[in-house]
Amino acid sequence: MSLKGKVALVTGSTSGIGLGIAEALAGAGASIMLNGFGDPGKIEALRVSIEQRFGVKAGYSGADISKASQIAAMVAETQKAMGSLDILVNNAGIQFTAAIEGFPEEKWDQIIAINMSGVFHGMKAAIPGMKAAGWGRIINIASAHGLVASAFKVAYVAAKHGVLGMTKVAAIELANSGVTVNAICPGWVRTPLVEKQLEDRALATGSTVEAVTQAMIAEKQPMLQFSTPEGLGALAVFLCSDAAKTITGVPMSMDGGWTAQ
Ligand code: NAD
Repeated sequence: MSLKGKVALVTGSTSGIGLGIAEALAGAGASIMLNGFGDPGKIEALRVSIEQRFGVKAGYSGADISKASQIAAMVAETQKAMGSLDILVNNAGIQFTAAIEGFPEEKWDQIIAINMSGVFHGMKAAIPGMKAAGWGRIINIASAHGLVASAFKVAYVAAKHGVLGMTKVAAIELANSGVTVNAICPGWVRTPLVEKQLEDRALATGSTVEAVTQAMIAEKQPMLQFSTPEGLGALAVFLCSDAAKTITGVPMSMDGGWTAQ
């Protein structure tokens, strides 16, 4: 499958799932606009390494996905620097856990802004160019928590359910435009976002990280293994293919059976 000539912007691609998806799309031949936070030297090394390993053009935008104006500017910058924006992967996300009655308001606002509103602002900015080109792929990284809930994750679960809702709206609006809009719903993936939850839980229970890891997976997933950024990247490449051109408005789970229960 070749995505040669296509340009992909992956938000939150300096780490974890976003990086796995950016590398998979680059491996299929797409030029990549990276985005996300981190050490500037490490990000520049990553950008250069993507260009060298995959023979594609790679850029970087430091846009903060909690800010609508920065998202619009990042989309415009991608179109200007790379010639177009054909594939948008809305992946940037954060987590915070607490019971509703003690959930800090600023954490609620931040998670809704990044995990949900950022997806809306990204789609809003990218859709006109995709419609004009008559081809586009939008992939929103939701979660098993877009389909079902867990305690202590009120903002995250609300945001991810919202992402699935707006994915369906966009799919219907764009049905005959050549642009598909889908969501991917991962179960557990061992990234820094999950590593922090494992460390917090180990600290709270006086247990080891490895022991809480096994317990945490078993609590939710029939399959006792992590999904991987590489696997999710391969799914994103498939959704960009011609074979997937009539898949739209769908939440695609890669969750080890989590939501089959
Ligand atoms: P991660 O912490 O490894 O990566 C998150 C990325 O988002 C980083 O590149 C970070 O710099 C970026 N980011 C955070 N805030 C940002 C902001 N304001 N502006 C721009 N970039 C920002 O996390 P991950 O596990 O790879 O998560 C990626 C996505 O996958 C998230 O949307 C998350 O909700 C979702 N997800 C993760 C899992 C999992 O088990 N890891 C499961 C389901 C869904």
